Order: sequence, then structure tokens, then C-alpha cells
Amino acid sequence: MSIPTEPRFDVSNPNLRFLEEVSAVTAGVSRLEMCIQCGSCGGSCPPAKDMDHTPRMLFAMVRAGMKDEVLRSNTPWICVSCYHCVVRCPQDVHIADVMYTLKSMAIRAKLYRDSTGPDFSRTFVGMVEHYGRSYEFGLATRHYLKHFPLRMPGMAAMGLGMLSKKRVSMTPRRIKGIDQLRAILDKAKEVEAAS
Ligand code: SF4
Ligand code: SF4
Repeated sequence: MSIPTEPRFDVSNPNLRFLEEVSAVTAGVSRLEMCIQCGSCGGSCPPAKDMDHTPRMLFAMVRAGMKDEVLRSNTPWICVSCYHCVVRCPQDVHIADVMYTLKSMAIRAKLYRDSTGPDFSRTFVGMVEHYGRSYEFGLATRHYLKHFPLRMPGMAAMGLGMLSKKRVSMTPRRIKGIDQLRAILDKAKEVEAAS
């Protein structure tokens, strides 16, 4: 069965509804208009208890045009892109991609509440550009040292546990073909700047 695609909206149209605006700036398709509010996403979301709104609630707010409230919500910043919800969504809504869209819209509108979130994203992107992959140990260490130094001692046990189970590595490893990846990223930036 072929998956229906959604119409592409002209993002320069000032009369776009918020739902259409979110869809227009999401990479690929969002399928957000297909959401049936079943709640499977929130039910399968590991960090949902820390979110201002579950993904289901947030999408209802997007549909209701509650732009300011949505862009002020901490939900997209708490999302860890685990894709549990994406696998379980009966409507194939591209939930994690929409979370990225909402983060970037919140940054542009300067409506995010947690000022460390955008910095975390920038550090993550910088590491991907440098090494070609995420370097979790360095990312977490840098972020906590910069923003939450007093919490560092409390993180030590978890960090050591992850290191001992080889879930993270102490040192970064650069991928082969980093130049090709950088060329792709440069092109993506060029396309984004032109759009
Ligand atoms: S699981 Fe999918 S259809 Fe259900 S509320 Fe979440 S986004 Fe909507
Ligand atoms: S991708 Fe984000 S919203 Fe979906 S289950 Fe994981 S943390 Fe929750």
C-alpha cells in the first residue's frame, strides 16, 4: 500500500494555518494532519513525564493554531529522538521530525524557555560536523560543565556505568569519508539558506 503524501505548502504564504506552516518546514512530509489523537505516542515516550505536553497534546495545540504555546513548550526539547513513538504511531506521523521542526521554529521566534536547549543542539551539530557522528560522552560532559557544573558529581555514577558497559566511548572516533559528509552538510546549508 502506498503511503499518501501531504500537500506541500508555500511557507511564504502569510495566510498559512500553523499546522500547514509546521508541515511546510518539516523535512520530507510530516503527516501531522493524519493524527487521530490516539495517544500511542505519549504512551510510548520514555521522557513524557518531563514534558509540558505529551506529543498528542502538542499536536492538538498545533492543529488549534496555538503557536505561542506550542513554541514555548519544553516538549520538543525533552524529546530524545528515540523514535519509539514513530514506530507505534498508527498514522505514520513523522513525530520526531516534527519535534525538530518545532525546535527550529522556537529558536527563530526566540520563544524557547530552556536556553540550554539550543546550545545543546549547536554542540551536537558541531560534533557531527567534526567527527561525522555523535560523541555522547564529550557532548554530555561539555554541556554539564558549561550549564550545570554543580550537577556533575551526581552524573558521575551514571557516566561510569555507561562507560563500563561500553554504551559510550571516552574518546571520539571520526568516520571514514568525513570530507564527503561535510560536502553533503555544506550543500544542505546552501539549500536551506536559499529556501
Ligand atoms: S500516535 Fe500518531 S496518531 Fe496517535 S496521537 Fe500520536 S501522532 Fe497522533
Ligand atoms: S522520539 Fe521523542 S516524542 Fe517520540 S517517543 Fe522518543 S522522546 Fe518521545
